[in-house]
Amino acid sequence: MEEQLKKSDTLNIVGELAAGIAHEIRNPLTSLKGFIQLLKGDINGYDTYFNIIMSELERIESIVHEFLVLAKPQAINYKYFNVIKIMQETIDLLSPQALMDNVELRTYFKEREMNTYCEPNHIKQVFINIVKNAIEATVENSTSEKIIHISIHQTEDHWIKVVIQDSGKGISKEKLKRLGEPFYTTKEKGTGLGLMISYKIIKEHGGKIEVASQMNKGTTFSIYLPINQS
Ligand code: ADP
Ligand code: MG
Repeated sequence: MEEQLKKSDTLNIVGELAAGIAHEIRNPLTSLKGFIQLLKGDINGYDTYFNIIMSELERIESIVHEFLVLAKPQAINYKYFNVIKIMQETIDLLSPQALMDNVELRTYFKEREMNTYCEPNHIKQVFINIVKNAIEATVENSTSEKIIHISIHQTEDHWIKVVIQDSGKGISKEKLKRLGEPFYTTKEKGTGLGLMISYKIIKEHGGKIEVASQMNKGTTFSIYLPINQS
């Protein structure tokens, strides 16, 4: 079961618009959180309500945060960069979470360097989103081996291929079609933005993402980046 995911340009416009709005929402949100926190001492007996308000505010905050990753055009800095190094940094960043969830991130890097012209921070964001999803899916499948296999190699037709393979809960055929839609999530605390952002970034790099999945067996995300110098 394999599906190449192509998303239309309308997503770019939606993304940019929403990023602008997200920026405007952040300041009032911060002040709202602050003042509600100040109220806490005066509203004894309403702990349940207080906790719901705080967790809903935090949910808005994480949605806003994910959009703001896109809202920094001035920070975009394309350069010739080592994709293996970006993945290594991603793994270092996610190791504490993986350790806590009892999941091993196992890497297979034949080379030490595999360079392409890219925006390293954006590529890192893609790797973070997809490896994080893999960890979360692994946790949700209690019967699986708790290892995520991450490999990077060059294909014969000149792509850098990054493969992230989990033994998680898997994705059904119907749900596979919806991946990358804004706000599509099956998680209680999910935002449904991680993959939308990832598809957008990889498309901007002239690459593509393929997903293969089997229910209760696991999912494999393959990210293809063109090998180019400028
Ligand atoms: P979120 O993680 O906030 O839900 P994403 O855009 O990252 O949003 O992912 C959207 C949905 O795609 C997830 O809610 C999940 O249902 C599904 N998904 C993504 N990656 C995987 C995976 N590796 N295994 C199983 N399901 C996945
Ligand atoms: Mg996610």
